[in-house]
Parts: sequence; structure tokens; C-alpha cells
Amino acid sequence: MRSIKEIFVIGHGPSSSHTMGPANACEYILKQYENIKSIKVTLYGSLALTGKGHLTDYIIDLKLKNIEHKIIFDSKTETKHPNTMEFEITTNKGTSTETIISIGGGTIVTKENYKNRLQEVYSQNSLKEILIYCNKENISLVEYVKKHEDENLFDYLKSCKDQILASIDSGLSKEGYLPGPLKVQRKAKEMLANLKNDDPAEIMAISAFAVAEENASGNLIVIAPTCGSAGVFGGILGYFRKKNYSEKSIIESLMIAGLIGMLAKINASISGAEAGCQAEIGVACAMGAAAIASIKGLNNEQIARAAEIALEHSLGLTCDPVQGYVQIPCIERCAVYALKAKNAAKLATLIPSTNNKVTFDDSLKTMYETGKDLSSEYRETGKKGLSEIFK
Ligand code: SF4
Repeated sequence: MRSIKEIFVIGHGPSSSHTMGPANACEYILKQYENIKSIKVTLYGSLALTGKGHLTDYIIDLKLKNIEHKIIFDSKTETKHPNTMEFEITTNKGTSTETIISIGGGTIVTKENYKNRLQEVYSQNSLKEILIYCNKENISLVEYVKKHEDENLFDYLKSCKDQILASIDSGLSKEGYLPGPLKVQRKAKEMLANLKNDDPAEIMAISAFAVAEENASGNLIVIAPTCGSAGVFGGILGYFRKKNYSEKSIIESLMIAGLIGMLAKINASISGAEAGCQAEIGVACAMGAAAIASIKGLNNEQIARAAEIALEHSLGLTCDPVQGYVQIPCIERCAVYALKAKNAAKLATLIPSTNNKVTFDDSLKTMYETGKDLSSEYRETGKKGLSEIFK
């Protein structure tokens, strides 16, 4: 399994697969080719169907602003992966074509990095294997992560933590409409002003709104594990700050969350276009439940159970962003699933440790199978569900 640093990345919203991925793809092309005369970018599948609402064309225009370029939205041609881009690059030597896939979390798969992608940091590839290893070595999951990652992991996650808190504060300071035709109003600031008590769970919900609104505005956030689901960790870190947890314990909880997110990324999917919102906010919920369980001092098995409960009860969650904008249902959903993560962590302490039938790995496998069975109309195409009803 690769480094958990892939799961938390600082970048601009509103979408890791539809904004950050294409931005990274353009940067990759600009690095690979010299003396470029023109570029034609064709967006397929979900990128073609919801790219406008996700600012895909905006980010490509920005990245290729100094080069003659054309963007084509092709929603008819079938591709193997729903987030496929084709770059036709004309240089003084001729024309070449590169196919690039955006697999979620800002990660892109290119011809060049396809083989090198398997830079393993961990030998274990499932939570079951990890738990067996930890039991054998008599170590916690945090110790397991520290044992495998390089020494700058702590500082890396600290910068992510700082950015999430900054995004909460930034979101709480703003009002007005979010970009796009839906005329969705920012709500976090008003929610905080209306708060009657000092309940950390309510702070959690408001913080989730604050970060999700920042994401919807294309501002700086931390993908966790995607942009659309970034509000879940906004909620969780807002909750941790309210509860006065130490910096060290917050960063260690992010290590656990990263582990759960990375298992989802390598064994299933964290892309709404591939497996629906269960792969984005569902996975964020499982990461959040594990992080909360970790910060509350639960043992390895209880942390695994918290993640399992959160994911099992997110199964079937569809992706139907209204008019392709990462606003409805995404913003409110981040708050709902941050609260759900907290409940899953609580439940993990109540359920007796014996007789645990379903594991996290089982839930993950089921999530992926369910995602593949979901009609493409419920996988980030903006064709059905809320997108169809609310036009
Ligand atoms: S519904 Fe979920 S998966 Fe779809 S765009 Fe919104 S946050 Fe992402």
C-alpha cells in the first residue's frame, strides 16, 4: 500500500477528480512536452457531463492559458473509466496523443506513472492484514503508521490540519451566494451566529458547512479523501478543536484516517464517478469514525469497528450533484456524515467485541461492488436523483 500522504492533499476545490485531477494532468503534459504549438483536450464520461459545474474547463483554461487550446466535452463515447481525458498535443515535431485518467483525490494515471504507481510503503493491503501485524508486534495502529512512513509525515499532516482549521475560519467569516446558477447561500456564518449553546456536535456540523462552502467556492481546502467530501473532516477538526484535543493527538488521528482512506483507494474507489457518493462521503465518514475512535483512545479492533460501522451504513449512497455543482446535496451531506462518524465511533464502544460478523474489508468490498452496479446515472453524471428533480 502507498503512503497515506496521498489521502490528505492541500489544493483548490470544488472537485478532486474533476478540478485537481485535470489541473495535474495539464501540468504533467506541460512538463512532458517541449515547444507545444496547440493542445486539444477531450473530456469523456462524468468529466464531460458534470465538468462545467465542477469547473473542469475553467481549470484547464487557467493551466493552458499560454498555449492555444481547445476543450471538447464528449459525453457520447464510452470509455473504460468514467473520468478519462485525452490530450492531443501538437509540437514542432508532430502530434501525439496521451490518455490520462483522474482516479479521485487529485491522483492521475498516465502512461508514465502507471508502472511507478506501485511505490509500496506498507506490505499489508487490507485492514485484516494490518490488525494481524499489529497484534503480532503488539503495537497500536498509530505506531504501525509511524513505523512505515518517513519522518516528515508528522509535519505534512500538521500542515493539513492547519489548513483545515484555516478553511473552517475562512468559511465562517463569509456570507453571500456560492458560485453558479443555483443561488445557494452560504450558511455556516449564520448557523454559528444562531448557535444557542456550546455543543461540540453542533460546532462539528457548522464547521463541516464552512469547509464544504469553501470547497464549493473553489477556495483552498484539504481533500480528505476528495474535495466534495472535504467538509466531513472540516466537521471533525472543528469538533476536535472545540474539545481541546492536543495537536499531537489530532495529527495521530489523521494518520489513522489516512490508513482507512488509503485502503479504500487501493482496494475499492474514492471516486463518485466510479462508485457513487458512498466512495467519497461514505469513505470520509469511515475515516472520520476511525479518527474519532483513535483520539478517544479506543483500541485497534474498536477503531476498525468504528470505520466498518460508518462505511457499512453508507452503502448505496448515490452521487447526484444538482446541475453538476458540488453544492446540493454535497454541503449538507458533509455535515450529516461528520455527525454520523461521531455516532459510529460511539457505537464501536457499545457493541461487545465478540461476534463481529462484518469486517471493514467486507464493507469496502461491498461498497465497490455496489458502486459498480449503480447505474451510471447515479455516478456523478447529474442525470438522475436530485439532479433530475431539482433543475
Ligand atoms: S454527491 Fe458526493 S460524490 Fe457526488 S459530487 Fe457531491 S460529494 Fe462528490
